Amino acid sequence: MNNLNSIKEIASKYNSFYVYDEKTLKENVNKLKDNFKSAYFIYSLKTNPHKKVANSVLKENIGTDAASLNEVMQSFENGLKKEEIYYSAPGKSYNDIKNSIEISTIIADSINEVFLIDKIAKEKGMCADIGVRINPNFNFFSNEFIPSKFGIDENQLFEKLDEFKNLSNINITGIHVHLRSQELNLDILKAYYDNIFLLAKKFIQKAEKNLKFINFGSGIGIDYKEDDIPLNLKVLGEYFDKRAAEFKNEYKDILLIIESGRFIAGKAGKYITKVADTKISGNTKYVILHNTLNGFIRPSMEQLILSYSKEENPFASEPLFTSKSAFSFEAITSNIEKETVTLVGNLCTSTDVIKKELEIEKLDIGDLISINNAGSYAAVLSPMQFSNQGEIPEVFINLNGEVVL
Ligand SMILES: *Cc1c(COP(=O)(O)O)cnc(C)c1O
Repeated sequence: MNNLNSIKEIASKYNSFYVYDEKTLKENVNKLKDNFKSAYFIYSLKTNPHKKVANSVLKENIGTDAASLNEVMQSFENGLKKEEIYYSAPGKSYNDIKNSIEISTIIADSINEVFLIDKIAKEKGMCADIGVRINPNFNFFSNEFIPSKFGIDENQLFEKLDEFKNLSNINITGIHVHLRSQELNLDILKAYYDNIFLLAKKFIQKAEKNLKFINFGSGIGIDYKEDDIPLNLKVLGEYFDKRAAEFKNEYKDILLIIESGRFIAGKAGKYITKVADTKISGNTKYVILHNTLNGFIRPSMEQLILSYSKEENPFASEPLFTSKSAFSFEAITSNIEKETVTLVGNLCTSTDVIKKELEIEKLDIGDLISINNAGSYAAVLSPMQFSNQGEIPEVFINLNGEVVL
């Protein structure tokens, strides 16, 4: 993504903003589609529901992973059909279900929810095809069961199957598993796909009927820090396609769904912020930037976690914390000599530190800093109400290079 002139132009109006690049978005969607020929991709809207971003992604013939009623509505308003919208979230309310049941494929997240969906479908005089989210007897890294707030435990589900079959207003036609995001290890993802194909077979045998869809969740990660090795999508996609072909020999007409948020949007976004002031205190040079913690919280969250953690590389806690050095900082300035600075924000809290001791080109008031990997879990997570500095604009650069506010 290289839109330097556009960025400078926008920066003449705003002190901080997100910029999303349509070209990168489209390239990312097509990388997924080209490498996984047998998968149907759905976009996890919660990563970045910005109108232009979502419109652009959904034009590529992919569906949505909706995590709330509003995300179901956004998908519906984008023209998606019921079979293209998968509504998966814990704790859906009566109204959430009532207002989404006719326009989306609801994925039940608990035993209670299966009964609630059946009840609402009855009130509406319909029979709904639904999915169930399963907390399987394996986890992302091994074949060990881990309790979870998500889904129905595999064993409990199989015990309940007969009872569910007798409900007259729902039909369980799909299963959904999502255990972890942001994985870069090929072997782990391969084993995960294997496990889900096995689980689906088991489900079909126990239910004594075929499924319409298997939703494999996400897991596909992106390289955040400089020494992260990007996933080899070609190898992973070929593996998935091979397993899918074997599976489809036995079970026909099942849609194999993979969810993705960050792979599509993460690298299509940057956060730009302007230098408000500089000062030297003791031996430290501080560069004070506009709207850091309140505009893009993840870099300061990273500093906070690293300052408390006793571990060299603390375990990820998505979507708030990925790893050490998950974001890089680029100076947009005419200066070429470098110096070591601490980047902080203009909020009245000392927690507002986004990078300590960074070697970077000398920054003057009015210069810009560009932070990468800001297309996913970025604008949506920002506590913009804190200290009332206003909303952070999100700017979209379309395929023609035009800036759309
Ligand atoms: C958030 C979420 C995703 C998206 O994960 P990414 O790492 O952004 O691809 C997919 N599926 C479910 C169920 C999620 O909650």
